[in-house]
Amino acid sequence: MTTTEMETRSFEADVARLLHMMVHSVYSDRDVFLRELISNAADACEKLRYEAIARPELLGDDPKPRIALFADAENRLLSIEDNGIGMDGEEMTEALGTIARSGTRAFMERLEAAKGGENAELVGQFGVGFYSAFMVAEKVEVISRPAGSDEAWRWSSDGKGSYSVGPAAIGDAPPRGTRVVLHLMEDAASCTEPHRLERLVKSHSGHVPVPVTLVEKPG
Ligand code: ADP
Ligand code: MG
Repeated sequence: MTTTEMETRSFEADVARLLHMMVHSVYSDRDVFLRELISNAADACEKLRYEAIARPELLGDDPKPRIALFADAENRLLSIEDNGIGMDGEEMTEALGTIARSGTRAFMERLEAAKGGENAELVGQFGVGFYSAFMVAEKVEVISRPAGSDEAWRWSSDGKGSYSVGPAAIGDAPPRGTRVVLHLMEDAASCTEPHRLERLVKSHSGHVPVPVTLVEKPG
């Protein structure tokens, strides 16, 4: 990506369809969003660990993988931050604007075939990935600085057909890795409650090989 401006692009048709289904279906278990985002954060740490075998300098002075949840009840924000491999603008477009995964495609076919009440089970069964963020968020921002890069990138979307992607100020990004910021829907405000988050992390992400810490932002 060579431009210095934010660009607005349309989601691939399949993604738009999936997002529409996510937002308009009734899920009894919207909580899977956190499992999905933590699993992506852990995958990013694992990818970095692997890359760093050949290029140890990628780890800099921050060799230990970690994931932090920032809960800001006052502003109804929940952020999931990792110090993993990170993404540049092109990778964001590719990874967050298209459906590259056969698993997600299979999920969509099942979801379309099923009636409302079964959707929650399907979500749990397939692991719909990043887009599950839009079950609880009216807007999602992704700010990332790839390992070994001195550039940062931002992706944002309200899940309604298009997203913006472009460069970000380096000071807005984590020193390395990715921060996913969820602007929570009004009826998902309880996602910032520490006890709830702790319970979710324990029950859905207990097996994750990267430590997850919870940080409460003073309001
Ligand atoms: P999956 O994890 O099965 O590949 P997802 O929908 O969960 O599918 O994520 C899509 C892609 O977005 C990932 O494969 C990865 O390339 C990218 N991605 C998502 N979250 C992160 C993150 N925290 N750090 C780096 N890349 C990420
Ligand atoms: Mg995933």
